[in-house]
Amino acid sequence: MKRCAYCGYVIEGEAKEIAPESGSGARPAAYWHKYAADCVVAETRETGRSPLQRRLSNL
Ligand SMILES: [Zn+2]
Repeated sequence: MKRCAYCGYVIEGEAKEIAPESGSGARPAAYWHKYAADCVVAETRETGRSPLQRRLSNL
């Protein structure tokens, strides 16, 4: 079971794997909701694009 590192909720559908920062050693990969619409935190933000949407598009 994967948990979204962004909102902290369990990811039911597809997860997006976030690569650990390079040079930080063998840290486990983090996961986010693949789509901002599934992310609880993103859903609660109503004005414009959420920070998560912006970050996902920059990956
Ligand atoms: Zn999430």
